[in-house]
Amino acid sequence: MIELESLVRRNIWKLTPYSCARDEFKGRAASVFLDANENPYGSPLNRYPDPLQEQLKAKLALVKGVAPSRIFLGNGSDEAIDLVFRIFCEPRQDNVVAIAPTYGMYGVCADINDVEYRPVALRQDFTLDADALLAATDDHTKVIWLCSPNNPTGNALERHAIEHILTAFSGIVVVDEAYADFSNLRPFRLDLDRFPNLIVLNTFSKLWASAAIRLGMAFASEVIIGLFNKVKYPYNVNLLTQQQALKVLDDLQHVELWRATLLNERAHLLPSVAELPICKAVYPTDANFFLARMTDADRIYNYLVDRGIIVRNRSRVQLCGNCLRITIGTPDENNALLGALRQYR
Ligand SMILES: *Cc1c(COP(=O)(O)O)cnc(C)c1O
Repeated sequence: MIELESLVRRNIWKLTPYSCARDEFKGRAASVFLDANENPYGSPLNRYPDPLQEQLKAKLALVKGVAPSRIFLGNGSDEAIDLVFRIFCEPRQDNVVAIAPTYGMYGVCADINDVEYRPVALRQDFTLDADALLAATDDHTKVIWLCSPNNPTGNALERHAIEHILTAFSGIVVVDEAYADFSNLRPFRLDLDRFPNLIVLNTFSKLWASAAIRLGMAFASEVIIGLFNKVKYPYNVNLLTQQQALKVLDDLQHVELWRATLLNERAHLLPSVAELPICKAVYPTDANFFLARMTDADRIYNYLVDRGIIVRNRSRVQLCGNCLRITIGTPDENNALLGALRQYR
């Protein structure tokens, strides 16, 4: 068992959160709202949105298989990432450990919050060295950051290694599963009962094709979700976003179609890139992108830019020398990429 109180910053544990006007009457029927200094005209955007997004969470609970009380919704996953630092990490005192390379926001949020960030390299084949991460922790390590499937490497981390960290580490373990929709592996959000120190991140930005509405999810124990709710801005998810998210959840058949199309494209694009003479290796992926090691990533990147095709140059990232990160696009887009790469001299 973890002792949550000892992991949470004292000021946050003791915090009395802001109380919204709508919180105070909650549960009883009402039709005249003169409590929040809103303009009575201009419905529906004149009213403050539901601060806890209950309708949306009820629907998400069914799709994700997680109780509404164990869901936090934020302005992108990025909000949840920042909140983890603000809830658990005392600036200039605590530290966090993370895999490297990985998603850049963990390190940026650590810097913003003045919290020491300890990157620990994955193995050369991008697998997770659980013991190396654990060895980098000390009494002031509050959080371990894992990303699976990992960005930018594309691979899912081994479940047994993640479980080893969840069991052996007495702090918080975040597993960012932004890309789990593209893999067939069992998602960690279904194992919250077994791991009270687990926080899982999901997003509307990738398979759910809604990066513009800024909506991210965190799944964790009720106590941890309670802390998120206490610290977040009261109306952190606006009404337009909540309404659009409900529409997305009403059309999941469409999402399934996208998934099938993208996985099919991935299966064709990877070997086609791999057989190019300018490609040294493509790495196995569980995501909607893949990492390709090229003969000269900088020059190929600029060549593609000149043809209006933008990929991500990751060649200056640890373990990723000469690597380009390529997102799976539409069939036309993928063909444009392949055509250009085949003409590269
Ligand atoms: C894209 C991405 C996200 C999504 O962030 P949002 O703020 O929800 O758009 C989260 N984690 C990783 C690793 C990502 O690559």
